[in-house]
Amino acid sequence: MTDKHYQFLNLGEVTAPYREQLYEAARRVIDSGRYIGGEEVDALESELAAICCVRHAIGVSNGLDALRLTLKALIIMGRLETGDEIIVPGNTFVATFLAVSDAGLTPVAVDPDLTTQNIDSSAVERHLTGRTRGVIPVHLFGRVAWDGAMKDVIRRNNLIVVEDAAQSIGAISASVGLNSTRQAGSLGHAGALSFYPTKNIGALGDAGAVTTNDTELAETIRALANYGSDRRNHYLYKGYNARLDPVQAAMLRVRLPYIKQENADRFARAVAYSNTIRHPDVELPLMSRHVTDCVWHQYVIRTSRRDELRDYLLHRGVETDVHYPVPPHRQPCFKDLPHGPLPITERLAEEMISLPISACTSVKDASDIGRIINEF
Ligand SMILES: *Cc1c(COP(=O)(O)O)cnc(C)c1O
Repeated sequence: MTDKHYQFLNLGEVTAPYREQLYEAARRVIDSGRYIGGEEVDALESELAAICCVRHAIGVSNGLDALRLTLKALIIMGRLETGDEIIVPGNTFVATFLAVSDAGLTPVAVDPDLTTQNIDSSAVERHLTGRTRGVIPVHLFGRVAWDGAMKDVIRRNNLIVVEDAAQSIGAISASVGLNSTRQAGSLGHAGALSFYPTKNIGALGDAGAVTTNDTELAETIRALANYGSDRRNHYLYKGYNARLDPVQAAMLRVRLPYIKQENADRFARAVAYSNTIRHPDVELPLMSRHVTDCVWHQYVIRTSRRDELRDYLLHRGVETDVHYPVPPHRQPCFKDLPHGPLPITERLAEEMISLPISACTSVKDASDIGRIINEF
């Protein structure tokens, strides 16, 4: 008997159920004659603002630009200054660090909590200096990095909060944010979303958005993303071309109505894994009491026998991935970035394995993969 093959992710398969609607949406854009901005982008922005419970959503080119433009806008507005320290989790995708350094700010990497794998308030508090002006909570793997203690530390120290919500659209925190709402993207002063094709809601290319209740910030970001122009033939800032394309907006509008269902399906696979996997060498991710506070962008187990288990799984037909094997502070581009010891970040990078959790994986697949792990 040959084992079934379990792909980690197959984007064609993820997209297939939406194929006809996507063709229709593409046709709408093609026939509109409007290929920059316009109705599709406006409509997507309203829909995103509603989902994230904020006043403004600004469509931009990708998630990295969403973070970058937000930080640069905050500098233009005088809310941040070049050289300010921004606290970031050590265990994140490199884009979090890149956005901070590109804006002329200093990323201060801190270790996450081993259980949630997110930064917590005590880590933020321990790293405060006279130059700390902001924090970027990354809702890693879809789990909201927020609680009442975090809110208190932020309030007491007057910190700017830009959420890296690239992996967490649709997640809802158990604790209210600065604006009394709970949606990822509405908890701090601004949130950055990514619609990179592998994210829970993916475009057919690069796309991103910023969410905020701050009208001045929204307008500054909108101008910055459009050559720095606040009105036709008038360039207020030395800006960028970092807009969201209407064709991607139209693709995303097809996917957005299914976000709750898609996130619920991911949760069901996570439950199947957690109910099945029982192995002395395997640590499972936290299953929170509040089912909404994690949208399971990844289902990440930990083991000190990482490479051995990955090889075994591949041999049994199960593809896995690692997010992320080398943390940003260990990357060549950040070799000159000063940082303290980050033992948890480094341990996670050596122990984590992401199991398949996309629409290509059925709940039964997840249980089967769980049983295969138990036979390791
Ligand atoms: C994907 C991602 C980004 C960057 O988004 P892009 O759209 O790929 O530029 C930033 N932060 C995190 C945590 C991400 O997962």
